[in-house]
Amino acid sequence: MPTTIHPSAFTFIPERPTLASLTRAAQDCTACDLYKKATQAVVGAGPREAAVFFIGEQPGDQEDLAGKPFVGPAGRVLDEALIEAGIPREEVYVTNAVKHFKWEPRGKKRIHAKPTLGEVKACRPWLETELALVKPRIIVCLGATAAQSLMGPKFKVTVERGKFFETPWAPWLTATIHPSAILRMPDADSRREARARLVEDLRGVAARLRG
Ligand code: SF4
Repeated sequence: MPTTIHPSAFTFIPERPTLASLTRAAQDCTACDLYKKATQAVVGAGPREAAVFFIGEQPGDQEDLAGKPFVGPAGRVLDEALIEAGIPREEVYVTNAVKHFKWEPRGKKRIHAKPTLGEVKACRPWLETELALVKPRIIVCLGATAAQSLMGPKFKVTVERGKFFETPWAPWLTATIHPSAILRMPDADSRREARARLVEDLRGVAARLRG
């Protein structure tokens, strides 16, 4: 099979981007293969001057259809955890490391497939442009894909979660579990415990915001 040569995502980013123009421009991106099977590119949502910038992995089935990030079950877990941690939703921008939904068919369902490092790298110009526009005080990476997108492939969320790191994109970056990982846990006790730890990590973010 011939190898597809993809242009860089930079080719598609407007010269003077805004959050609105980024969403439009991302619809034309062909910097990796993921645009082929997705409904649309899903760029971030939230206020232009949000203090906290959440990064997930990629849009899920519902996000792909709606064109908005974190509107499915994982988004509901995040919303509840934010309320419990005392982080106002209006101070939060949410996006993903990868803008197109990667999936595999299982019967009639579209099942999430993990993006490769190459796909995450190809999509990073979109993420970096969002970061440059929002200029958040704190980046919160939800899960390994998001954290490794900015911090490199050796970053381990299991080891580093809850810690704060200085970065070129924001004064602070921290990482925690992705809400969808909580939903995938096999029993109610594990889910309750993981959810409590997510809230605890977000309370750390709230404390930094106040400090
Ligand atoms: S996933 Fe990212 S890099 Fe790949 S086509 Fe979509 S927007 Fe472009």
